[in-house]
Amino acid sequence: MTQEEVFKKIVAHCKEYGFVFPSSEIYDGLGAVYDYGQLGVELKNNIKTYWWQSMVLLHDNIVGLDSAIFMHPTIWKASGHVDAFNDPLIDNRDSKRRYRADVLIEEQMAKYDEKIEKEVVKARKRFGDSFDEAKYRATSANVLDYAARRNALHDRYKRAINENNLEELKQIIVDEEIVCPVSGTRNWTDVRQFNLMFSTDMGSTADSSMKIYLRPETAQGIFVNYLNVQKTGRMKIPFGIAQIGKAFRNEIVARQFIFRMREFEQMEMQFFIKPGTELDWFSKWKESRMKWHQALGFGAERYRFHDHDKLAHYANAATDIEFLMPFGFKEVEGIHSRTDFDLSQHEKFSGKSIKYFDPETNESYTPYVVETSIGLDRMFLSIMSASYDEEVLENGETRTVLHLPAQLAPVKLAILPLVRKDGLPELARSILDDLKFHFNCQYDEKDSIGKRYRRQDAIGTPFCVTVDHQSLEDKTVTLRDRDSMEQQRIKIGDLCNVLSDKVSITSLLKTL
Ligand code: ATP
Repeated sequence: MTQEEVFKKIVAHCKEYGFVFPSSEIYDGLGAVYDYGQLGVELKNNIKTYWWQSMVLLHDNIVGLDSAIFMHPTIWKASGHVDAFNDPLIDNRDSKRRYRADVLIEEQMAKYDEKIEKEVVKARKRFGDSFDEAKYRATSANVLDYAARRNALHDRYKRAINENNLEELKQIIVDEEIVCPVSGTRNWTDVRQFNLMFSTDMGSTADSSMKIYLRPETAQGIFVNYLNVQKTGRMKIPFGIAQIGKAFRNEIVARQFIFRMREFEQMEMQFFIKPGTELDWFSKWKESRMKWHQALGFGAERYRFHDHDKLAHYANAATDIEFLMPFGFKEVEGIHSRTDFDLSQHEKFSGKSIKYFDPETNESYTPYVVETSIGLDRMFLSIMSASYDEEVLENGETRTVLHLPAQLAPVKLAILPLVRKDGLPELARSILDDLKFHFNCQYDEKDSIGKRYRRQDAIGTPFCVTVDHQSLEDKTVTLRDRDSMEQQRIKIGDLCNVLSDKVSITSLLKTL
C-alpha cells in the first residue's frame, strides 16, 4: 500500500467510526472545515487534558486562561497581523485554480531535488557495488547542473520573499516555466497578497459597526491579559499562561484533511521571562515539548526538529516539531522565542504600561516570551496516523486496529456478555454501572464475541472484558488486551484498580 492509500484509509476510517466528519456534509460540505464525531470528541478532549495538565498541573508557575475569540481590532494592528499576515497568491486563468506562489516555487525546488535523487538511483544501478555515492554527487555533471539551478532558484526566492517582492515571485514562476497542475498552462495572473484573517462586523447599525477579526491565533488573548493574570495571580517571572481555543485562518490552499483547516484549535503557552534568558528557556522548552510528544510511545524516529531558515523579524530563535505523517514530515508544533515584540507593541498601541517590576532587583522591564504553540487537530491527525494498522493475523485474517495510547483512547473498556441470556447481561451491566464513574466504558451485546472484539479494535479500545458463565460462579471475567489479544482471568473487584493505572492520563503525566 502506498502512503497515499494509507492516508485515504485513515480519512475513511475517521468518518466510518465517528471520529471526524466533513462539516455540513448533507449540504456537500464546506471547504477545510470538519466536525468531530462521538469518538473524535473524546480523543480530542483526552489530548487537551494531557496537554493542559502537563502545563498547568505539573508547573506551579503556569496558569490557564480562556480569552474571547472576538478582540479589539487594534490588537491585530499591533500584532502585525493586519499588515503582514499574508500569503502570496496567484491564479491560473485557464483552470481558475488559486495557488500560493511560495508553494509553487518550493515545489519546483523539490523537483530539482527529485531529479538529483533519480540520477543517483540510476548511477547506483549502473555501477553496482563499486558505486561511490559521495563522489558521484560531487562530480556528476547532471547532478551539479541540477544542484546549481536549485541553489540559484533558492537564493532568488529567498531574496524575493524576504523583500516581499511580488513581481519577482511572478517572474520566478514565469522563468522557471512552472505550469498549473490542473490546466497544464502558464497563463498566470499577477501575484497578490492575501490576508488570512476572517473579518466580520460587530454592532447593529452600519454607522456604529466596527470591523473585527476572528482570531488567527490564541496567543494575542494571552498577551493582552498578561497584566491581569500577573497582578491578580501574583505571578513572579518566570511564569507561563496556557490557553486552548479556536483559531481561524482563511487558508488559500486547504488540503490534507484536518492538517490544514480554516477553523482549528490551538494549545498555546506563552512563557514570560527576563530578557537575556530567552535562549536558555527556548532550549528547555524544546526538550520538554519533545518529551511530551515522545511519551506517547510512537517511537522517537517519527519526530524531528526543523529549525526555521527565515526568522520572523521579532523572533530570535524558532523551531518546529515535525511528525512523520503519511505525507511526510510535517509541522505539528512551533516553539518560538518572540522577544518582547508583542508586549511592546501592545504597550505602544494601547498607551498602557505593560512592565514587570522585579522585586528582587528593583528594576522594571518588558518581559521576553518563549511560546509553545501546538495545533490540536494536527496532533489528532498524527495520533490517528501512527495508530492505524491493518494487521495480518496468524489465521490469515486481517484486523483493522487503532493502537491508540490507552490514556488517550476514547473508550477505555468494552464490557461484553458472552451470550444474551442466563443473567450474563445483568452482571455485565452491573460492572458497567460500577466502572462508568471511573472511565469511559461501552456495553455491547450484539453479534458474535469475535465481531465485537473487532469493532473495539477498530476504535482503539485498549481493553475488553467478557462476562461468561464462570463469571456467575466465581466473580471473575476475561480481560483482553487490544494489542497482544491475550486474555487473562481477573476478579471483577480488581478491574477498577488494574485498569485505572493503565488508562489514566496521570500515568502518562508521571512519565514526563
Ligand atoms: P503552516 O506553516 O503549516 O501554515 P504555521 O507555521 O503558520 O503553520 P503557526 O502559526 O506556528 O503555524 O501555528 C501553530 C500551530 O497551529 C501549528 O504548528 C499547527 O499545528 C497549527 N496550525 C496552524 N495553521 C493551521 C491550520 N490551518 N489548520 C490546522 N492547524 C493549524
